[in-house]
Amino acid sequence: MEQSIIYVLAISGKPLMPTRRRNKVWYWLRCGLAKVVSREPFTIQLRFETTEYRQPVTVGVDTGSKTVGMAATTNGAVVYQAEVHLRTDITDKLTQRRQYRRTRRSRNTRYRAARFANRRKPAGWLPPSLRSKAEATVKAVHFVARVLPVCQVNVEVGSFDTQKMQRPEISGLEYQQGELQGYLLREYLLEKWQRHCAYCGAKEVPLEVEHIVPRSRGGSNRVSNLTLACKPCNVRKEKLTAAEFGYPKIQAQARVPLKDAAHVSTLKTAVVQRLQAIFGTDQVDVTYGYETKYKRIQVLGLPKSHTNDAVAIACVMGEVVEPCAVAHQLRCVPRGNYQLFNGKHSEHKVWAPRKVKGWKLHEQVAAKGQVGYIGGRRLKGSFVLKDLITGKTILEVVPSKLRRIARCTHGWIAATMQFTEQEGGASSPGSSRGVPAPQNSWK
Ligand SMILES: [Zn+2]
Repeated sequence: MEQSIIYVLAISGKPLMPTRRRNKVWYWLRCGLAKVVSREPFTIQLRFETTEYRQPVTVGVDTGSKTVGMAATTNGAVVYQAEVHLRTDITDKLTQRRQYRRTRRSRNTRYRAARFANRRKPAGWLPPSLRSKAEATVKAVHFVARVLPVCQVNVEVGSFDTQKMQRPEISGLEYQQGELQGYLLREYLLEKWQRHCAYCGAKEVPLEVEHIVPRSRGGSNRVSNLTLACKPCNVRKEKLTAAEFGYPKIQAQARVPLKDAAHVSTLKTAVVQRLQAIFGTDQVDVTYGYETKYKRIQVLGLPKSHTNDAVAIACVMGEVVEPCAVAHQLRCVPRGNYQLFNGKHSEHKVWAPRKVKGWKLHEQVAAKGQVGYIGGRRLKGSFVLKDLITGKTILEVVPSKLRRIARCTHGWIAATMQFTEQEGGASSPGSSRGVPAPQNSWK
């Protein structure tokens, strides 16, 4: 196993550069020259004055709606990798709260009148489910900034740069202008043709860039002559033009530029705005999916995963870094519960003491050879253990069998896991699935 990274704080609490020198750290801890401030990620604070020498650390954020990839690089090395699992239960919880309030109004209990004059939404309002995701993403960047001297944050905001793609049909961008340009063009075509085969409409299959009028018959390399087709269609079409192949509309459609290509999701915009408010406008950079893809595949040679994408986002163009063998897993901890009563006839008052038999909710524990977090406790009987990544129940176990691994830190359940290669990702549906690495499918 690769030696994991130990994060170091100065006596003032400010982050210093991390270290891999376990023996040195062990010596410091044994002599009382340092203390452990967090087990997950393992962080120590020095108890003696040092020169506060720091190198700039760049954080890459691969935003997503369920999982966020995060990586920090400095000086050609990856010093932090994490997968952040966001909450997906906000909508359900708010529906539940609405129902509880509704029933409470008709009961003779504490009453809050229904509000009617609160319908105007302030500027920058986000739906609660999205607000939770945006705030958690920013909170996760804070989590890194607590242990590393972060001075630059890169966020991927869209699949391609619309400013570089000003009406490519007219300006005449061609698809043999170098590899990076090819990635840009490909993302543009995927968006324009809605990730379908232009001829048979097949989805979720490898798509190839296709010349509407073939090269052999004088067709150009311009965007206005390009579309996407699945392999069978491409083979069948061979040296026919789209019109001869039976699709005259495709030819006309190809000349129309993609309208309103500037669309960037509200979630990503909100994340960038919030980060800029905290770290400063100059410290937050936006990148695009085609650059990420190019860097990940061509420069770094890494498979698709949230953390690898984040590593690619953090790197500058051409920089080569080696990803860590371990990735932190962070799970967002909800703050509370709206339920007052439960039971079949609402006969039980919901008790919520801080600790039950010494255990808090969301503590990370091991039991019966499995690791999870406490998702439910009972005064009498077993506790519910849930999986850190999926959030699903693993097993029920009596509290005496539990062994504590870590408590929540700053609103996160955090764990270090050996990095496993994962296929696909929730961050960019469609762009990864079904579309293999571009260089394989270039004609
Ligand atoms: Zn097809």
